[in-house]
Amino acid sequence: MIDIAVVGAGTAGMTAAIYGRRAGMEVTLFEGNTYGGQIVATPEVENFPGFEKISGFDLADSIFRQAMALDAKFVFDQINSISKKDGGFVLSGDFGEYEAKTVIIATGATNRHLGIDREEELVGRGISYCATCDGAFYKGKVTAVAGGGNTAVEDALYLAGLCSKVYIIHRREGFRAEEALMAKARQTENIEILTPFVTERLEGEGKLTSVVLKNALDGQEKKIDIEGLFVAIGQVPETKAAEGLVETEGGYIKAGEDCVTSCPGVFVAGDVRTKHVRQLATAASDGAIAALAAVSCIKMQ
Ligand code: NAP
Repeated sequence: MIDIAVVGAGTAGMTAAIYGRRAGMEVTLFEGNTYGGQIVATPEVENFPGFEKISGFDLADSIFRQAMALDAKFVFDQINSISKKDGGFVLSGDFGEYEAKTVIIATGATNRHLGIDREEELVGRGISYCATCDGAFYKGKVTAVAGGGNTAVEDALYLAGLCSKVYIIHRREGFRAEEALMAKARQTENIEILTPFVTERLEGEGKLTSVVLKNALDGQEKKIDIEGLFVAIGQVPETKAAEGLVETEGGYIKAGEDCVTSCPGVFVAGDVRTKHVRQLATAASDGAIAALAAVSCIKMQ
């Protein structure tokens, strides 16, 4: 019987494992992908306290190693459902079933797709959702990033160091990205900002060669020749494992800053929780709060 089962090994989940272990609990961290979560795809993190500049992968790796050094257990399995059993919980994964006294859901979010024709067909042939992972394939080429948030602009800045030219395609004039990032993008010679444009069509035989954009104001179409389109238009919360177990709101698992869900014994941490600020620092904070709440819950049992 696991004391605390943590589902998802991103920043929130790994931090929960650290706090759970330091409180003397048996903690198992379940992950169906590589550990690290979304941060692994971030080229440079400059806003996590203690690190002026660090790659997302290095940061994730060091949090993971910290959790493993404390003897948290890591199980590579995709948890598909969680159900109640005898005052505890059963987690069903692709490779097995696991029993736990408490559960912390830290499943984060996955990349939102544009949802246009041929998008899925061209993944890996011009369409990518991860600039750090795939940017090197587009060295010296013309690419574009779709989106107007921090991720899109950070990706464009990263790609500008590799590609001959990078377009930023955004559907509004205003950007969600921080002004500091926008200023850097505007000053970067090989970045061109195209607004307000919606990506309308993907073109190319077998691989992407161009995209047709539609002006959101006057409907005029504009074609740009690019070999890579990096889609960075936000995330969709990953709540499948918790379906039917906890209340959700707007797709996210409903909980306040105490990380307590509608189901006693189940806690939620990180981007999958209803919250205003989705940042690494707040994911780590949730991990700590959720783990300590789970510890109290176990002690009261
Ligand atoms: P985001 O802030 O939600 O931005 C998503 C962007 O995509 C928005 O500009 C949105 O446009 C656009 N968009 C959404 N759906 C679209 C669609 N169907 N077609 C075209 N465009 C679409 O997402 P994010 O940039 O991935 O960031 C997520 C969170 O992580 C944010 O809180 C962000 O601050 C944080 N983050 C922080 C850092 C950092 O601090 N270093 C780095 C990366 C991310 P509209 O603006 O018109 O809605």
